[in-house]
Amino acid sequence: MLRLFFTLLVLALPLSAFAETYDLLYRAGLDPDSGTARVEIQLSGKELPHELSLNLSSGRYADLKSDSPLEQEGDRVIWHPKGPESKLSYRFTIDEKKGSGHYDSYITKDWAILRTDKLIPPMSVVAAKHLRSRAELALDLPQDWSANLPYAEVGKYRFKLVDQGRRFIRPKGWMIAGRIGSRQDVIDGINTTVAAPLGENIHRQDILAFLSYNLPELKKVFPHFPRRLLVVTAGNPMWRGGLSGTRSLFMHADRPMISGNRTSSIVHELVHVATGIRGDKQSDWIVEGLAEYYSLEILRRSGAISQRRFDEAMDGLAKWGREAPSLLRKRSSGPITARAVGVMREVDREIRAASGGKASIDDVARGLAAERGEVTLKKFRQLAEKAAGGPIEALQVERLRTPEK
Ligand SMILES: [Zn+2]
Repeated sequence: MLRLFFTLLVLALPLSAFAETYDLLYRAGLDPDSGTARVEIQLSGKELPHELSLNLSSGRYADLKSDSPLEQEGDRVIWHPKGPESKLSYRFTIDEKKGSGHYDSYITKDWAILRTDKLIPPMSVVAAKHLRSRAELALDLPQDWSANLPYAEVGKYRFKLVDQGRRFIRPKGWMIAGRIGSRQDVIDGINTTVAAPLGENIHRQDILAFLSYNLPELKKVFPHFPRRLLVVTAGNPMWRGGLSGTRSLFMHADRPMISGNRTSSIVHELVHVATGIRGDKQSDWIVEGLAEYYSLEILRRSGAISQRRFDEAMDGLAKWGREAPSLLRKRSSGPITARAVGVMREVDREIRAASGGKASIDDVARGLAAERGEVTLKKFRQLAEKAAGGPIEALQVERLRTPEK
């Protein structure tokens, strides 16, 4: 009887009861005068990770200090935190050029735009299996500044971090701080914020309205689209295009929501946010092709462009795509991506025909988004063939590797 009682007791305990939690607090003070952020990582709890190995290869981290021993190994610093509380601090250089004199990380006396996954370097963590972190990011900002991040604010400029499936939680995605203006709405269950520096000619309401038409269509393809989305926009000297991040994206203020060729940079980046995939050394065309295909297809489905204008756009891309000698390249851009859009359309047609309209390329995209991470031609083909219930002609390697006839 006693044994039965204990068995029942153990069964009644949730799994989390066996987990031990420690607190992980990231603090970042933004300093426009020095162009840096003073960052501190603080761990506290009964039991802490044994070792954190920080990858400093981007060269943006300096002045590393800790109350417990640090070892330097090339571009890595190894931190052995000692409980019940241990801290590591450093200075992070905010300005960073992304070629052609434009920045993907920048601070002025009025605002800063950067990615928190750069502010906190990538790291590998050795910790006992039952250990879990409870993480927050607290910002220390100049007077009159405020901030937007794709996280819930739990105190003044203090954000609760989430990172599903990770035991050691790091902040990720875009952030904007400063004298900023933002507009927020809940679109089909997605808490959406559009934020930009004050005083710039930015159409926050237009962007929000555009998203309220198109996000619901995107969510039909990707039902697990993040529940929170931050769109950061600004003018020069920021990067003159779009850049996706976790639950967030950056878009240059001069970029139209729909381009001359009717594709949409912002929907393109939203597809990257939704899928979270990257190519292997010859599969970038799948990542970029899907994003560009849906940047037209979502507009067609939402009624933002008519079938006729959609067909014309597809024809234009097909013509451009003939300049691509092969799709199987490390980087996909221009004619390679244009041709990849045609392949996606072909794959969709084949799947619809073979399944009697029951399946489509949406099933493939959803499958990739469920797995995230690196995509290969093999994985893409497997998902497409599963949806079609047979081989897909458009995905024969020979056709992808040679110029289009
Ligand atoms: Zn892209």
